[in-house]
Amino acid sequence: MTETTTEPGGTAAQPEQSEKEASVQTPETPDKADIAVTGLATMGRNLARNLARNGHTVAVHNRTRKRTDSLIAEYSGEGNFIACESLADVVRSLKRPRKVIVMVQAGAGTDEVIDQLAELLEPGDILVDGGNAHFIDTRRRESALRERGLHFVGTGISGGEEGALNGPSIMPGGTAEAYKTLGPILESISAQVDGTPCCTHVGADGAGHFVKMVHNGIEYADMQLIGESYDLLRTVLGKTPDELAEIFRTWNTGDLESFLIEITAEVLAAKDPRGGEGAFVDKVLDQTEQKGTGRWTVQIALDLGTPVSGIAEAVFARSVSGHAEQRDAARGVLEGPSEPSEKVAVDNADQFVEDVRRALYASKVVAYAQGFDMIRAGAEAYDWNIDLGAMATIWRGGCIIRARFLDRIREAYEKTPDLPSLLVDPYFARTVNEGQEAWRRVVATAAAAGVPVPGFGAALSYFDALRRDRLPAALLQGLRDLFGAHTYRRTDAEGSFHLEWSGDRSEREA
Ligand code: NDP
Repeated sequence: MTETTTEPGGTAAQPEQSEKEASVQTPETPDKADIAVTGLATMGRNLARNLARNGHTVAVHNRTRKRTDSLIAEYSGEGNFIACESLADVVRSLKRPRKVIVMVQAGAGTDEVIDQLAELLEPGDILVDGGNAHFIDTRRRESALRERGLHFVGTGISGGEEGALNGPSIMPGGTAEAYKTLGPILESISAQVDGTPCCTHVGADGAGHFVKMVHNGIEYADMQLIGESYDLLRTVLGKTPDELAEIFRTWNTGDLESFLIEITAEVLAAKDPRGGEGAFVDKVLDQTEQKGTGRWTVQIALDLGTPVSGIAEAVFARSVSGHAEQRDAARGVLEGPSEPSEKVAVDNADQFVEDVRRALYASKVVAYAQGFDMIRAGAEAYDWNIDLGAMATIWRGGCIIRARFLDRIREAYEKTPDLPSLLVDPYFARTVNEGQEAWRRVVATAAAAGVPVPGFGAALSYFDALRRDRLPAALLQGLRDLFGAHTYRRTDAEGSFHLEWSGDRSEREA
């Protein structure tokens, strides 16, 4: 175990080889660390630095020693670190109850490190998994560690490398008791918006990782909608990437203000890094992956029966983009409007830009409404007490989907915690109602122009499905009763019924 301690602005003591000789003691050197981070790749190293910068003494460890050494060599001036050679060193270096954040590769690596730490820690200690674990795995781990008296806190951390260093959005699960000790440390390193930390106790066992998963699903939907807006404006209006960058920059000053809109402008304005005037976006292969949390969100949504169609369409749109062979085969065979010669005529380009902005905002509201519905459904299924308004609050800063309108979502759930859908909150209802003419024009124009808009289309269909008096589900029930005697319910009587389709067509109660 090697300690390096630095006063702000001072010079760090360098790590040395032998444990005894290595300790660098000054009167200010804390004997023990407040918290440890094991796994010092991109996320762990930045999180450790963030902790140290905020005045916590951090024990740092990595399976391969060189990451620890490089962290100490480059950043020990930022605060108090205790470099550890082994996990046993980590445990020895910590104040009680010990708090260890595991930031290693999700999956088998995480299990391995947790198993090793579980052998070393004592009842009452707190083990935090800050990686992107599946919440089902987190529930399994939490249950096993609880039996040994350990607190296991599966924690969603969003914001990537930059967020981990300067303030991420943090979504911890686990027990309320563990949060009492751990919470103040996490809150001190999270992003802050209007003086409020973007970190709160989400709920028991896997609740934090569940909410992080849905957050990432919403991120998929949000990005898909932005992509569709870009495609429409480019194809229908023939706008250049530079012009589009300006449009997104302008949008970022209004209701749509968000990190994703901001970086869309940045990416569109970028030139080919290999030189020339060509836009960066035109040099990038148009195929994306869909592994990980977006897919998990949809899989779990199917189990929970929550229609997160915006997220599902976003995941599938990525799949379609990745099917290069099918796209190649279809290109010369499947006919339709082609660009730019058969562009749909739009009389007023500025009006169309405004229509797309409104369609984007309305579709985004739907995607978030569906995501929050899924969190509520997960909370019911797994017995978590999740405050939806608090989730909107902790997503306002630090994370990838940080956006101005999360304040509106927070207000909506604060006012009416059991809101049946975000779409019926007065502000959001007004937004989608007022935006719907533009929304419909955009979806119709996209269909006429041959531009795929699965996100806009699914969002509009969801909106229409919610508001309609009658849905074709009645006909489906009739079909199911005819071919499989699955029975149906009536609008004017209680109970379930079956019609004798191949007999005298009389109705009997099932
Ligand atoms: P990686 O996911 O690339 O994981 C690399 C780290 O895991 C290294 O420190 C490596 O140690 C360690 N590791 C892998 N297997 C083992 C093992 N069996 N035993 C011990 N250590 C092991 O690192 P990231 O920093 O990118 O991410 C860390 C976690 O945070 C992941 O779960 C990731 O999903 C999550 N996350 C990442 C985000 C990002 O933007 N990158 C954002 C939010 C969450 P060694 O150096 O010895 O190989």
